Amino acid sequence: MGCPVGVAWGQELLSYSFPEGHPMNVTRLSLFAIELEKRIHSDPNVKRIPTARAARQDMELFHEPKYVEFVLEASKAGAGLLDEGDTPAFPGIYDASAWIVGTTLNCLKYIEDGREVKHAINPVGGLHHAKPGRAGGFCVFNDASIAIMAAHKHTPDRNILYFDIDAHHGDGVYYPFEEAPWLYIVDIHEDGRYLYPGTGYREETGTGRAIGTKINLCLRPGAGDDEFMSALEEAEEVFEKSNPWLIIFQAGADGLLGDPLTHLRYSAKSHGEAARRIHRAAHRYSDGRLLVLGGGGYSPENVANAWLRVTEELLQGV
Ligand SMILES: [Zn+2]
Ligand SMILES: [Zn+2]
Repeated sequence: MGCPVGVAWGQELLSYSFPEGHPMNVTRLSLFAIELEKRIHSDPNVKRIPTARAARQDMELFHEPKYVEFVLEASKAGAGLLDEGDTPAFPGIYDASAWIVGTTLNCLKYIEDGREVKHAINPVGGLHHAKPGRAGGFCVFNDASIAIMAAHKHTPDRNILYFDIDAHHGDGVYYPFEEAPWLYIVDIHEDGRYLYPGTGYREETGTGRAIGTKINLCLRPGAGDDEFMSALEEAEEVFEKSNPWLIIFQAGADGLLGDPLTHLRYSAKSHGEAARRIHRAAHRYSDGRLLVLGGGGYSPENVANAWLRVTEELLQGV
């Protein structure tokens, strides 16, 4: 039996696009969008989840109020930088970010409700570099961390598992939750000595009461499917240990061969396998509750291949 899968889609999500020439431009989604529309129309198991705009208090579940205010002002001005260099402001950047956050939270709402779908995907979510008080690496508001806070508020006594295969380390999730024993993090990424943000090493396993709840699996530049699969073996041990109530999967497509920003070389097969295993874990531990966020990926072909593989794996059932 296959599983119904919710996919959030709508024009509002396409407004999170830095000017032409910037890697985080809407063209990266072009091929995926065409294929997704076809799937939504042809497969009754693919349900469209409506987009939603986050309220200010949603942002403040994770971000500092003065930072939220700063983004609002920068959005009106429509110019300048939001971080030290990678994340320029554009007119309306606040709203564009608020639609992404709201849509991720809407996906979470569908999953928690569980009547229509247990799995939901926000393809433009997964902005895992934004910190409580600053932007970073093309990310303004961190929808992943906001969803973690929202879910934790609803179910404080249970663990959450965050699984991130984006080629970049999810520093905006790791550091703010380094001391949180209820958040398990498994992050497979390119070694920080060679790639932004330069963090996420083996020895970083959480601090204080949270020691042992996080694992950073670093891949050498040039690593392919074999290395990814070995990392996945180790990842699965943590899936089991975490016994989560909810799983969040950041499925960044920038580790595939041909991505212009990173040096990893695996294929969409790795995405399929990662999705297969995290999907199985969701049915085993979290009653199917699985929130998928797209993350990075700067080659339109790779983005389409990787995320369609993930979607197919979930639709196939376990
Ligand atoms: Zn399923
Ligand atoms: Zn990335």
